Amino acid sequence: MINMYQRKTGPSAINLLSAALVAAIAWSAAAQAAECPRSGTLGTSRILKVDPATYPRVGLKSFEQTLPLEDHEVVLTFDDGPWPATTPKVLAALADECVRATFFLIGKPASEHPALVRRIAAEGHTIGHHTWSHNNLKYMSLDDGRAEIERGIAADEMALHGVATTTPSTPFFRFPYFNMTPQTLDLLQSRGIAVFGADLWASDWNPMTPSQQLKLLTDRLTIARKGIILLHDPKAQTAAMLPAFLRYLRDNHYRVVHLVPATSGADVKAAR
Ligand SMILES: [Zn+2]
Repeated sequence: MINMYQRKTGPSAINLLSAALVAAIAWSAAAQAAECPRSGTLGTSRILKVDPATYPRVGLKSFEQTLPLEDHEVVLTFDDGPWPATTPKVLAALADECVRATFFLIGKPASEHPALVRRIAAEGHTIGHHTWSHNNLKYMSLDDGRAEIERGIAADEMALHGVATTTPSTPFFRFPYFNMTPQTLDLLQSRGIAVFGADLWASDWNPMTPSQQLKLLTDRLTIARKGIILLHDPKAQTAAMLPAFLRYLRDNHYRVVHLVPATSGADVKAAR
């Protein structure tokens, strides 16, 4: 029995190899993070820990409450990824400016592109959840809606950590189309998951050129002065616009706030 036990748990070549791999990935992520902050970039100005007990529902487009942002503070959020054609461009634009964002992922593409999901996390961004297949939960039964939510969380967690748990490591969720029901809102609140709306958006679901989109978004931001901004990383026009938008934020003295879950220590340490 002792021999069997030792054989099962002793360091095998495979275990040693995966330990080395994990260490190499951690080193690589740390090396990337070490490049920020960098002078001449927009940067992330502060970390905001979001506790779902204090902020169960945020975003003025859907709710009365939003996050406690100061004048000229913005939070960048990206929905509907990961999408291999465009998400890497968005990540590159954010990295160029040392900016951290929150990505609300759809479970099905997350399950198809797990390496991209891990890359988003490794680059210091926060990962929230956006259902399994982007169904409109307003027109589903509560059971079907719950299944959409939980399957999405499990797919994102599987891609991130290799465990298909329905308990999200970051308890942030956004409804597709912002279409919610009192029952699904209650369900998420009872599970300690914060529901994110948005304070403003670029309307990037409508086709337009990147420069038209930049003007629309910056005009809206001039009026709102701050807020949670909704963008879509699978949209090519958004990926194309983003570098200019980040430069606009820098030139106009906006400050980017990075959201992390209140319980997370590792994310706070990684964010700069
Ligand atoms: Zn969406």
